[in-house]
Amino acid sequence: MTEITDSIGCITRFAPSPTGHLHIGGARTALLCWAFAKANGGKFVLRIEDTDQTRSSESSMRGILEDMGWLGIEWDEGPELSFDGKALGGDPRSVGPFFQAQRLELYNTHIRTLIEAGKAYPAFETPEVLDAARKEAIAAKTGYKYNRAGLEISLADRIARMDAGEAHVVRLKMPDEAITVHDAILGDVTVEPSEFDDFIIRKRDGFPTYHLAVVVDDALMGVTHVLRGQEHLINTPRHIAIQRALGFDTPSYGHMPLIFNPDGSKMSKRDKDKLAKKAVKEQKIESCPIEGVNDEDFAKWLKDKTRQLASDDLIALAKVLGITLPEIDVEDFRRAGYLPGALNNYLALLGWNPKVKNEDGTDLEHFDMDYLGSHFTMGGMSKGQSKFDRVKLMSFNGDAIAALSDEAFASIWFAWAQQYDAELAGRFDEAAMLTLAPAVKTRCKTLADGRNIVGFALVADDSIVYDGKAVHKALIKGEKKGLELLMGFRSVLETMDDFTPEAIEAAVKDYAESQEVGMGKLAQPLRVSATGAAVSPPLGQTLAILGKEAVVRRIDLCEAFVEKQASAAS
Ligand code: GLU
Repeated sequence: MTEITDSIGCITRFAPSPTGHLHIGGARTALLCWAFAKANGGKFVLRIEDTDQTRSSESSMRGILEDMGWLGIEWDEGPELSFDGKALGGDPRSVGPFFQAQRLELYNTHIRTLIEAGKAYPAFETPEVLDAARKEAIAAKTGYKYNRAGLEISLADRIARMDAGEAHVVRLKMPDEAITVHDAILGDVTVEPSEFDDFIIRKRDGFPTYHLAVVVDDALMGVTHVLRGQEHLINTPRHIAIQRALGFDTPSYGHMPLIFNPDGSKMSKRDKDKLAKKAVKEQKIESCPIEGVNDEDFAKWLKDKTRQLASDDLIALAKVLGITLPEIDVEDFRRAGYLPGALNNYLALLGWNPKVKNEDGTDLEHFDMDYLGSHFTMGGMSKGQSKFDRVKLMSFNGDAIAALSDEAFASIWFAWAQQYDAELAGRFDEAAMLTLAPAVKTRCKTLADGRNIVGFALVADDSIVYDGKAVHKALIKGEKKGLELLMGFRSVLETMDDFTPEAIEAAVKDYAESQEVGMGKLAQPLRVSATGAAVSPPLGQTLAILGKEAVVRRIDLCEAFVEKQASAAS
C-alpha cells in the first residue's frame, strides 16, 4: 500500500506554513510534488498550514503564493491567485477551505471521534506539573515520557470535565506496537514503541497540533502521495498512528534529502543574518546604521544567534555594509535576477536525476518544466545529501539568459528592473534595453549583473571616473594621438542625425578610413571617453544608449581630464 508507484490519479500536496518567505528547500519540495502529480496525470494541491497564529502572516502567505506563481509551480486546487494573467487554485472537488485556520471544526470533529472511542484523551495536568516531571526525569537521567495520568480518569469523567470547559490538552493513546514507514526514497524505517509517548494532538489553546491537522487534511483532501523534506521523517510514524486510529488510509511517503551549503552546514534562513552579523563585528559598527531599527534592538540582534532582522532591514544593512547576502529564499533569487526556468531546473536536480544521457554521453542536466512534468519518476530520487552549488546554478542561469531572444530579454530585464532596480528602470525603457540586449544578455549571469555591464550609463556625465591607464593608452600614447582623432570625430558626431548603433559603427569606420588608421584607433578613445574604461559592450550600442549629447559632453570631459593630467605632469 505504501510503496510509491507512479500511479495514475494521484494527488500530491505542498503545505507551507506562512511564517516567512518561501525557502528554497520548500520550493524544491513544491516543484517535485508538482512534477510527480503532472507526470502521473494527477492533481497538485496547495494548502496553507496557518494554525500557528502567532507566527503566521497574511503577507508571508501572499509572498509564498506569488513566489510559486513566479516559478510556474501551478497548483490545481488551493487558495485562489490571479498571477500573470492566469487564475490558479480553486476548489473543484469541494475539499477546501485550504487554510488550516478555517478548518478547526473539522479537526475538532475528528478529535471528538477519537476521544469517544478511547483512542485519544484529554489530559488536565497544568504546564507546571508537566514541567516539574520533565525536570525530575532529566535529573534522574531516565528520559521523560508522559505518565498517562489522564487515562486513569474514566472515559465519562474525562469527557464531562472537558465539556465543562476545564483546561486540557488532548493526547493520542499510542498503540504498543512498532510502526514502519515504507519510504519510497529511504526504504523501510521502523520505530519501536519505546520511542513513542502519548503526544499532544490538540493544544491548550484549542488549536490542533500540526500532526493532527496534517493527517486530517491529507485524508480529507484525498492526498495519495506525500513528498516532503527529511526533517519530517521523525513525524511520520506519529502520523501513521493517527491515520490508523481514525481509520484513514496511509498515503505513500517519500522524504527528500535536506539541502546543504557546500561547507556541509544546513542551508538555513539564518545564513543571511549570520553573514551580516559577522560583517558588523568585523567593521566594528556599534550603533545601528539603518533607519527603522533602534540601537537597542540592533544590539540584541547582534548578540543573539537566533534573532533575525526583517528582510527589508537586512537588505538595507547589507547595502551599508557593502556585502552580498547569500540567496536563501525564492525572493532572494528573484531579486538577484535568476530566471524561474533556470532555478527550477537546478532545484529539480537537488534530489532528482533524470538518469538520461545526452548524445555526447554526458548526463542530461538541462531541461524545462514540460520535460520535468512529463518525465519525473520516483526512481530518479536520491537518498544522499543535496549540496547547493551556487556556481552551477549561476552557470545554468547565464545559459538561460543568453538563450533568450533579444525581445524576451528586454521584456524580462525591464520587468525585473521595475521591481528591483528603480534607478535602472528609470534610466532605460524597454526599447533601450532591447538595443542593449545583444551586448548584455551574453555577458551577464544574472539580471542584476546586467546593471554592472551598463553601469557607465547610470552615472551622470560629470561623475564618470576615468581610468588613468586606459586614458593614457587610448588617447595619449602612440604616433597618431587618440585624442586628436577623438576631437576630429567629435565634429562628425555633432552632425549625425541617425544615432543608431549601425549608423555610429558606419561613421566610425568612415572616419577611421579617412584618417588612414584602423578602426580600433578611433574606437578605443571613443569608448574610454564615453565609459571611463577600456571595456564596454560593442561601441555602437554603448554610444547609442548614451545619446549624442551625452557622448559629446563626455568627449569634452575626457579632453579636460587629459589636459589636467598633462599639466599635473609638467
Ligand atoms: N507545514 C509543514 C512545513 O511547512 C508541512 C509539513 C508537511 O509537508 O507535512 O514544514
